[in-house]
Amino acid sequence: PAITRFAPSPTGLLHMGSLRTALYNYLLAKNTSGKFILRLEDTDRTRYQEEAESNILETLNWCGIKWDGPMFKQSVRTQEGLYKEYVDKLLEKGAAYKCFCSKDRLSSFRHDGYDRHCERLTTEEVENLQKVEKKPYTVRLKMVKAENYVTDLLHGKVLIKERKDRRGYDDPIILKSDGFPTYHLANVVDDHLMGITHVIRGEEWLSSTPKHLAIYEAFGWTPPNFIHIPLLTNLKNDKKLSKRQGDASVYAMKRAGILPEALVNFVALLGWAPPRSISQKTHECFTLNKLVDLFNLNYLTKGNVKVDDKKLKFFNKHFLQKKIQSDKVNELVKEIVPLCNENFNQDKISESQIKDILIKCGDSLSNINEFTESFGYFFEKPLYNPRNEEFITEKNKDDIIRLVKIVKKQVIEGGKQTHELLERIMNEGRLSTLDKRTIYKSIRYGLTGLTSGTKLPVIIDLLGSKESQNRLNDFES
Ligand code: GLU
Repeated sequence: PAITRFAPSPTGLLHMGSLRTALYNYLLAKNTSGKFILRLEDTDRTRYQEEAESNILETLNWCGIKWDGPMFKQSVRTQEGLYKEYVDKLLEKGAAYKCFCSKDRLSSFRHDGYDRHCERLTTEEVENLQKVEKKPYTVRLKMVKAENYVTDLLHGKVLIKERKDRRGYDDPIILKSDGFPTYHLANVVDDHLMGITHVIRGEEWLSSTPKHLAIYEAFGWTPPNFIHIPLLTNLKNDKKLSKRQGDASVYAMKRAGILPEALVNFVALLGWAPPRSISQKTHECFTLNKLVDLFNLNYLTKGNVKVDDKKLKFFNKHFLQKKIQSDKVNELVKEIVPLCNENFNQDKISESQIKDILIKCGDSLSNINEFTESFGYFFEKPLYNPRNEEFITEKNKDDIIRLVKIVKKQVIEGGKQTHELLERIMNEGRLSTLDKRTIYKSIRYGLTGLTSGTKLPVIIDLLGSKESQNRLNDFES
């Protein structure tokens, strides 16, 4: 069983890339009957955002990604003195040292790497600086060897580009002067204590991995397996999708009417693909449970991944249609009610009305946000737009009016199945100059103000005969 974790830093809204990281870790854990841990890496207090924290939890819940056990917070663990204890161990071992250098002094080494001035301080000098002069200090790890290779399950043995300084790597800070551990230390200590077996994370962390390996080495611990997944890039310019692109945030997608099932499916395929035989049969549509069954590290892909919104739309339609036909349709209704209230000046919009429309006419919807635009005519009288009236010509105008009259009369008579009724009217129409398409278009336009859409009998049923009649009256005049 794999023990994995999602370890986000709450510094902004959760975006697609992080969701993918969370999802892959979750899938691997669940596929192997292991454990998936949630750990907030909130030790950088200057970048911490409270909304970001709640956004992470909401997003995971919304997507159905459940973590095992409690949620861990590194700020809390810092207060409990946990990291300090481990830093002290390294200090005792001589694997780390206190650094009293000022910002000014350090800035002169920016290009060559720190000169390790403080490593050479004597015990008395350190005592004096700390206790007498009360100088603030950081703790640095002594990098003994500049190991620049990382073994990664996806990429194999990777050479990490050497930095400009001669030793390969600076002695990284592991404890900051505010007493908080750095990301590198807290990340490694926690992965070790939590028994993490596999770290799946974005490729941007690959260059930090040698530092992490050095920390494992200093403690004498075995590192987990690393899997660095490729970057997500913009379909248009192939540039890295950045956190700042607000539209890549899950929150923005939710607001744009994307269903969690669709997003999970979409994100799963950004760097992972089951065998073709499976994808072809299913058109790549997978539920979260199915993904758990199928997930396998061997199916991860290596190259940068282009994010193609068209596919997201396709999945959204797929899952929306499935939901409309299931008993989960009420969840959709609950989301649509406020949209309708926002858009239409009506107080009599009922849940059952919306449900009826969804079930009977919703087969063309690919996004619930389209509901008000597509079906506004059920709630408000249509505005007839002369630009849409091209099908009405001088030649067929009289026939159309005659036809509308006939339909109106039949609808008033009522009592009959509407489709039978229309069938009859079609025959009437054929007697005149009108062709089948114009007949349907005219009636539809009279009823809805649109020239295409749901089947006419369904529309008439849902509008009711009185309202249908009124609308045809208006249209005629
Ligand atoms: N806190 C890091 C982040 O925000 C975690 C990176 C890792 O998974 O090690 O992505």
